[in-house]
Amino acid sequence: MAAPDSDTQVSEASSVLRRVFGYDSFRPGQQEIIEHVVAGGDALVLMPTGGGKSLCYQIPALVRKGVGVVVSPLIALMQDQVDALTTLGVRAGFLNSTQHFDERQLVESSFLAGELDLLYLAPERLRAESTLRLLERGDISLFAIDEAHCVAQWGHDFRPDYLALSALHERWPSVPRIALTATATRATHAEIAARLNLEQARHFVASFDRPNINYRITPKKEPRRQLLDLLRREHPGDAGIVYRLSRAEVEKTAAFLTDNGIEALPYHAGLDAPTRAANQARFLREDGVVMVATIAFGMGIDKPDVRFVAHLDLPKSVEGYYQETGRAGRDGLPSTAWLAYGLQDVVQLRKMIDTSEGDDAHRRRLASHLDAMLALCETVGCRRVQLLAYFGQEGAEPCGNCDTCQSPPESWDGTVAAQKLLSTVLRLDRERGQRFGAGQLIDILLGKETPKVLQNRHQTLSVFGVGSDLSEGEWRGVVRQLLAQGLIAVQGDYGTLHLTGASTEVLRGRRQVPLRREPVHQPRPGGGAGDAEAPREGRSARRSRSAAAEELPPEAAPVFERLRAWRGATAKEEGKPAYVIFHDATLRQIAVELPTTLTALSTISGVGESKLAKYGKQVLETLHPGDATEEEEQEHLDFE
Ligand code: ADP
Ligand code: ZN
Repeated sequence: MAAPDSDTQVSEASSVLRRVFGYDSFRPGQQEIIEHVVAGGDALVLMPTGGGKSLCYQIPALVRKGVGVVVSPLIALMQDQVDALTTLGVRAGFLNSTQHFDERQLVESSFLAGELDLLYLAPERLRAESTLRLLERGDISLFAIDEAHCVAQWGHDFRPDYLALSALHERWPSVPRIALTATATRATHAEIAARLNLEQARHFVASFDRPNINYRITPKKEPRRQLLDLLRREHPGDAGIVYRLSRAEVEKTAAFLTDNGIEALPYHAGLDAPTRAANQARFLREDGVVMVATIAFGMGIDKPDVRFVAHLDLPKSVEGYYQETGRAGRDGLPSTAWLAYGLQDVVQLRKMIDTSEGDDAHRRRLASHLDAMLALCETVGCRRVQLLAYFGQEGAEPCGNCDTCQSPPESWDGTVAAQKLLSTVLRLDRERGQRFGAGQLIDILLGKETPKVLQNRHQTLSVFGVGSDLSEGEWRGVVRQLLAQGLIAVQGDYGTLHLTGASTEVLRGRRQVPLRREPVHQPRPGGGAGDAEAPREGRSARRSRSAAAEELPPEAAPVFERLRAWRGATAKEEGKPAYVIFHDATLRQIAVELPTTLTALSTISGVGESKLAKYGKQVLETLHPGDATEEEEQEHLDFE
């Protein structure tokens, strides 16, 4: 098609990458996508969080003539996105409902005068005829549709606005459209293509692997304590997100962390909007804040230095788990995804499914999502292999960067244990017409004469005490895994256990039950300290500095901390998030290479022309206080 000038456009894309963004090379997939859109093609891009989707439309918008129009539902983040671009020297603006008339007018007239490279719009704007007329009077280089899965998700707030976006093509048939999402499932992919009329577009599906994320799933005992251990041991001073299922747990967990000297803030839909906005702003702007949140928090949060995501309750689906953990480590530096889950989570989620609104088909779908999540939790294989396979990316090698790779769980033959548990359930039902939850069943198996046992005369059952070879924790592990494997079911308000069709096969000895040994020592009655996490290979047991400074050569670490302090002060002064100034990865490289001139500084990844001119001198001064040479002064002038 545009053969004569496509080569020059390609080299222009590389030059923009270097000049504006300060990056040397494209990330996987970026170049192909950018070339395709620059040449005027439509694209549907599936790329994981942190993969670098923004450049896929920002660079084409800078290379092509006209203004790139970006549709994004994340109104609260538009200001930050625009600030980040402005800091890079890109002319950007936004239009949304939070603005005053005057502000809007200013942006509209810059748009019409061709003085913008990128214009961010909330999706509902595009349903207003006035916006469409405005756009018609300007010159548009492309439409980018960010968070495109909003069009596919049933019940999504923005869905009606997104559905209306299919009309863009009719009104602007020659303007290329690029839709982007980090949602990986085939169903969502197909639905986005259909709803946005992108079947004819080229589809780019990147690998969904996030190699820098260390995945860990551990049995839940005292979740807040376990979390605190993790933060103290591995993430002191780091920014992170802690997910909880309920608002009450969010509040409790945030208070617990605060009481223990960790800067933590709550975020959930029950807080008023100003509090939510203020907490989000602090999380984005300050270094090292921990956000404790329900899943209402996180979509579109593009803070690159989130060092950990911790789940203290079981996510409802693998999709949710992947999206939420994906918010860690967008900058590519090592990060942790840690999940603690227990029997109670399974009971609670099953109950939520049983009582959820909607038809049986809907409930079956929810149940199958939960089953997939449980299978991920209970796997003895590599977590990453299983995660990628879930998204249809089969054949990955064991990763070496997840808990099951680092300390492979043993499996053991749990057939007899399963039979003991199942026959207890059966006897109670047959002989006494009773149903109980896991706690009572375990007490019976262990032979504990609790008041509830005595009151129900359970000590007279023939199975009483037959399970004393396992600890209480091990029994909870057995019940949890039987639930995960569908060999037992849970129902009702009290989480009573029931047999399933498959239970019978186990009881009759027709089916073996391989179980996963709990990776941590269970505290046995009277046994001492067995509660610590198993030591992880490849990570120092104790850390005192922030994880971001970890793994730097010892002499570079204090320099990095000095640069970070400078960045913090500058960010505060300019009212921007710290990462908008420079990423941790950039500061680390500066701390290692110790450039002495602006030219040397400009070769560091993340230092583009605009940032060099703006901050170069201050960075050199922070590195080498008080010895600016004439050469530097001269160079500095050249850039002004
Ligand atoms: P996504 O939207 O896919 O989650 P972003 O576009 O926010 O990802 O990119 C993630 C981070 O990676 C950003 O901070 C971005 O500046 C950085 N990045 C993107 N492309 C490159 C590249 N080619 N080289 C280095 N860093 C990059
Ligand atoms: Zn692995």
